[in-house]
Amino acid sequence: MQKLESLLKNHGLRRTEVRLQVLSAFSQQDKAYSQQDLQNVLGNIDRVTLYRTLRSFEDKGLIHRAIDGTDQAKYALCQSHCTSNAHQDDHIHFHCVTCGKTVCIDDVQVPTLQLPKGYTIQDAQLIVRGHCGQC
Ligand SMILES: [Zn+2]
Ligand SMILES: [Zn+2]
Ligand SMILES: [Zn+2]
Repeated sequence: MQKLESLLKNHGLRRTEVRLQVLSAFSQQDKAYSQQDLQNVLGNIDRVTLYRTLRSFEDKGLIHRAIDGTDQAKYALCQSHCTSNAHQDDHIHFHCVTCGKTVCIDDVQVPTLQLPKGYTIQDAQLIVRGHCGQC
């Protein structure tokens, strides 16, 4: 908990019980959570509060969207170098088609792309689908 509290503090977030609960869910498993997943893990947490918590975590550089090609928005913990409005989550996201989980593969970067003249990249997402190590 000590570690989670300082994580909140370092990202300019006041310590609240809900924030600690949500952060602790993220830090327990190395996978991306949808809002529904978190709802299941945390039990009776208010939907709006959870939604706002996720928004503020994303704004402050604690979590990022793990786009995985499914229609559910999922979020995963950021590495320590992300800060408010300066995310650097240029790693790939792996979606297991068997168990349905999505994980960040932090040490595999999205390759540099050669775009046509006049095009610039704001951010790039790379989704890899397949079977995870447990499936
Ligand atoms: Zn980030
Ligand atoms: Zn799997
Ligand atoms: Zn990620």
